[in-house]
Amino acid sequence: MIIDGKELSARIKQELAAQVVSLKEKYGRVPSLVVILVGENPASQSYVRGKIKACAECGFDSTLITMPESVSEAELLAEIERLNGDEAVDGILVQLPLPKHIDEEKVIDAIALEKDVDGFHPLNVANLWLGKPCILPCTPKGVMRMIQECGFEVSGCNAVVVGRSNIVGKPMAKLLLDANATVTIAHSRTKNLAEVTSKADILIAAVGRPRMITAEMVKEGAIVIDVGVNRDAATGKLCGDVDFEAVKDKAAHITQVPGGVGPMTITMLMGNTIECFERKMNK
Ligand code: NDP
Repeated sequence: MIIDGKELSARIKQELAAQVVSLKEKYGRVPSLVVILVGENPASQSYVRGKIKACAECGFDSTLITMPESVSEAELLAEIERLNGDEAVDGILVQLPLPKHIDEEKVIDAIALEKDVDGFHPLNVANLWLGKPCILPCTPKGVMRMIQECGFEVSGCNAVVVGRSNIVGKPMAKLLLDANATVTIAHSRTKNLAEVTSKADILIAAVGRPRMITAEMVKEGAIVIDVGVNRDAATGKLCGDVDFEAVKDKAAHITQVPGGVGPMTITMLMGNTIECFERKMNK
């Protein structure tokens, strides 16, 4: 069965839009997200367009601030500082990656914790690992929602996450651990990857290598979630880290690329913006 990220996202966005209507009645305004895009990377432009469109679908206010590739780190930090102090702004997102002359870590750290809708701020990350309330990073949060959709009992199952980045792999493993899965994190130095992945009841691929997860690497009846977004060298089309055509008959539930985790990531961002808004209003 295919877990349709587009359809699920549409459903969740409808729920969020209804929530926004009641928030407006209660607080007199709607949540507001500011997205900063530096440079003209086509993939980033496309992601940002998707985020702004989703804001409109949920009934949020959104502002897109574009800055030239040549913008200095100091100028970007000054803009973030201004937005941190702007009462009308509930969430700030800086689209990554940034040009090489800008220190991404410094930029992430500069966003006020209470406006960190991406959940990348070090204190959000610390709170996640300490099991304290926090804004969850959007992609792993979306993946958990997709797994939940399968009606699968995560507790006690074997989950394997391939990839250990700060934005996907590591928080993904933590959320699965919180759901009481027995979690293995695999990476580029993992020996006998196929042996590790083929024990997974839940397999998450977050690597960035086209179709590297083949049918032999997947356990019969597993849930397979493909986070990867790659460009197929031959066709120029988007593809995931999982060889979908080969794996789909073996997996019980599987996601597709495009139309899988991607839309869910954006939808979780909307949810996080509402969370930041509500926390602020209830302070
Ligand atoms: P990173 O490049 O930061 O991390 C990739 C991870 O994959 C690393 O931990 C790396 O291991 C591991 N890896 C690389 N090669 C292998 C291999 N041969 N075998 C096993 N593990 C390997 O990527 P991200 O986590 O940022 O993103 C992963 C993918 O997900 C990308 O395709 C990205 O575009 C996509 N993505 C999609 C999103 C969505 O919303 N759909 C959101 C974010 C990302 P090591 O640490 O040892 O180097």
